Amino acid sequence: MTGLDVAVWPSGAGLDDDGALRLAGHGATDLAAEHDTPVFVLDEAMFHERARLFRDAFTAAFEAIGSGVDVYYAGKSFLSVAVARWAYADGLRVDTCTGGELAVALRAQVPGEAIGLHGNNKSDSEIARAIDARVGRIVLDSVAEVGRVAAAARAAGRGPHDRVGVMVRVTTGIHAGGHEFIATAHEDQKFGISVTGGQALAALREVLTHPELELLGAHSHIGSQIQDVAAFEANARVMLALRADLERATGVLMPELDLGGGYGIAYVPGEEAMDVPAFARSLAATVQRVCAELDTTVPRVSIEPGRAVVGPTTVTLYRVGVVKPVTLDDGSVRTYVAVDGGMSDNIRPALYGARYTARLANRAGSPETVRARVVGKHCESGDIVIDEVALPADVAPGDLLAVPATGAYGRSMASTYNHVPRPPVVAVAEGTSRVLVRRETEDDLLALDLG
Ligand SMILES: *Cc1c(COP(=O)(O)O)cnc(C)c1O
Repeated sequence: MTGLDVAVWPSGAGLDDDGALRLAGHGATDLAAEHDTPVFVLDEAMFHERARLFRDAFTAAFEAIGSGVDVYYAGKSFLSVAVARWAYADGLRVDTCTGGELAVALRAQVPGEAIGLHGNNKSDSEIARAIDARVGRIVLDSVAEVGRVAAAARAAGRGPHDRVGVMVRVTTGIHAGGHEFIATAHEDQKFGISVTGGQALAALREVLTHPELELLGAHSHIGSQIQDVAAFEANARVMLALRADLERATGVLMPELDLGGGYGIAYVPGEEAMDVPAFARSLAATVQRVCAELDTTVPRVSIEPGRAVVGPTTVTLYRVGVVKPVTLDDGSVRTYVAVDGGMSDNIRPALYGARYTARLANRAGSPETVRARVVGKHCESGDIVIDEVALPADVAPGDLLAVPATGAYGRSMASTYNHVPRPPVVAVAEGTSRVLVRRETEDDLLALDLG
């Protein structure tokens, strides 16, 4: 096989003379020997690189229009104590959407003010915990939640001089993901409050009636794996109009708008990595232009990338077990390559038809290739890691297979289906490696079973 596609593989990845994969100076064979497989190998330097890229690019673009930016790392993409600490050290804040994610950020000693809490169905205890931790903002997802959070704030002794910062999640009718976006007037999904019929405006006004709440702004998140800046710009336009409407109706100018996450990455060769600085400049230019049209000031902006920060940093190493050629109805052969993980460590192909690529990691393999389908070890025929990929024709049991771009929504969505213990996450850097999350064991699983 040829060289590594830089858009898809981590920046610290390279090939030895014999074609074996190295990750930040560590041989894939050595990593597999030390940590066993499957294993998520995270390029630590690249995580910092990606985090700082978003911080610097968006800060520069929005400072140039007289505004500022907060970049929240969307913890749901992958959160561990070390990663939360890194994100904060790199100048990012941390976005959480459950009590569990909040607990990780707090364990990492991320200050409350640098944490946000989302969620469409927060429990009373999650709300109380967030208030107790003095999180920087709670993103309200329904009208009912306005009163609930206000009551929880009062119960915690918070009042007009010590308010709880909140945002209101708005659905703007802009939906995106993959490579296109659609704008619809009416929303049929669970998140947020629609801008249609004045609903979002009414919710914002409702917040203003509660003296223990501080209305920081409105929040939107339009989807995931979006490559099209036009979708973000269309969304920004709706959000800025909402802010101007509130100002006209009440005289209150919200200081901030959150334009969400969803920035796309390259998963397979041929897909391009997003040009983050160009994207940031384009979004800032739109915000500036629309504010001029609306005759209003430019707000502070926050964004919440998850996938685009951590996704490209990580490679999953699997061990090849069974290799099975299957003759199809048309006479062609598909080679099923079964690995020692699957849908329990990467549910995205089964969940959304997500595409990945792979290569042998322990050697180059033969120049001739076969049409392979990489499958897992679970008892589901839909347990497919890669629907179709060209692999060396001599791929054999015992080989190592590397799948790149698995940093986001891989380990974080992992399950223990079939009682397969979840893989570890190992951070590699030049000269060092350390386990961020250890491998789950059968004892861990059995510890939950009270017999
Ligand atoms: C999922 C999510 C994100 C992060 O999305 P990515 O596609 O990982 O960037 C950000 N904000 C909210 C509210 C989300 O639900």
